[in-house]
Amino acid sequence: MKDGTAGIRYPWQTPPAEGEAIEVAYGVLWMRLPLPMKLDHVNIYALDDGDSWTVIDTGFDSRKSRAIWQKLLDGPLAGKPVGRVIVTHHHPDHVGLAGWFQTEHGASLWTTRTAWLFARMLQLDEQAVPRQETLDFYRSCGMDEAIFKQRASERPFNFADMVAPMPLGFKRIKQGDVVRIGGRDWDVHIGNGHAPEHATFWSRDDHLVLSGDQILPSISSNIGVYATEPEADPVADWLEACERLSQYARDDQLILGGHKLPFTGAPLRMRQLIDNHHGALERLKAFLDQPKTAGECFPPLFKRTIDEGAYGLALVEALAHLNHLYQVGEVSRTMREDGAFLWQRIT
Ligand SMILES: [Zn+2]
Repeated sequence: MKDGTAGIRYPWQTPPAEGEAIEVAYGVLWMRLPLPMKLDHVNIYALDDGDSWTVIDTGFDSRKSRAIWQKLLDGPLAGKPVGRVIVTHHHPDHVGLAGWFQTEHGASLWTTRTAWLFARMLQLDEQAVPRQETLDFYRSCGMDEAIFKQRASERPFNFADMVAPMPLGFKRIKQGDVVRIGGRDWDVHIGNGHAPEHATFWSRDDHLVLSGDQILPSISSNIGVYATEPEADPVADWLEACERLSQYARDDQLILGGHKLPFTGAPLRMRQLIDNHHGALERLKAFLDQPKTAGECFPPLFKRTIDEGAYGLALVEALAHLNHLYQVGEVSRTMREDGAFLWQRIT
C-alpha cells in the first residue's frame, strides 16, 4: 500500500486508567495524567533505558498529579528511577513537573532551547492581575466587554500555578540530533506553530514517533497569538512544519502524541492538519468582506458555538489566522477608536 492511502486507526480504544500504564511497544509505556480543562488529560510516555526510565512530558504540577506520579513510579515503573525527562514543548501540561523531577528525583531535563527559555521565563513571571500590555492586547482583539471586565480584575492564568520551579540547567535538543531513548535511535525534527521549537522524535529502529502536540489525532492543536508577540504568524510556522515533517510520515508508524489516542495513518493525518488551516483561511477571507474584529471572527473558523471556557483559546486562534492573512497581504488592518483592530479583505 502506498503511504497516505490508509485511514487513521487506533490500536487501543481505551486509554490507561489513572495510575496504570499500557505497553504500546517493547519497553514503551503509555500513561495519562488528568487536566482540569475541557481537554481533560495529557499523555505521558516512559521508555526503558535499562537501569532507569526516560519520561516524555510530565503533566501539570498539582498535588493530584504528584500523587498519581507516585502511584506510577511505585506501580508500572516498578521503583526504577526516572533518569531523564524529555519535554516536547513549553506548555504547562507538558513541562509542569520537569523541575520537580530534576530537584526531587535527580533527573536531567532535555528539551529545546526555546522551550526551556519560555517555560522558565513564564514560570518566574507571576502576575496578580493582568499587565497593561495584556489588556491592550485584549482590546486590540476586540474582546467581548463582559469577559474583558472580568479578566481585567482577576488573577490571570499563571505558569507558576501549574509549573513547578525550574532549576538552572538543561540539555539542549535541536534539529538533526539523533538521541538514544529506550534502546532506539531517534531523529529529532523540530516543529513550530503550536509552540515554538517543538521537538518530535522519529525512531530509526522501528515504527514509533513521539509527536507531542505537533501531530495529534481527532483534535486540532491550538495555534494562537499572545501579548508576548502580537505580530506573530504561527499559522505560517505550523504549515511549514507540517509540510516538512510530512516527508517522514509513513502509514506503518505508530504516532504517540500528547493527547487523545495513539494512532496509525500519519500521512493522511498530516495532510488534514495542513488542509484544515487552508480551509479556515479561505472561510475567514470570505467572511471579511465587511470589517470585523478578531472577536467577531469565530463563526467562519469554528464549526461550533464558543462557550466562555473556550473563548480565550478561540480568540488567540482567530488572531493567528488574521495575522497570517495580513502577513500574506490578503487583508488590511485599521485601528478603531476603542483600540480594536478591524480586519477587512483586500479585493
Ligand atoms: Zn498539550
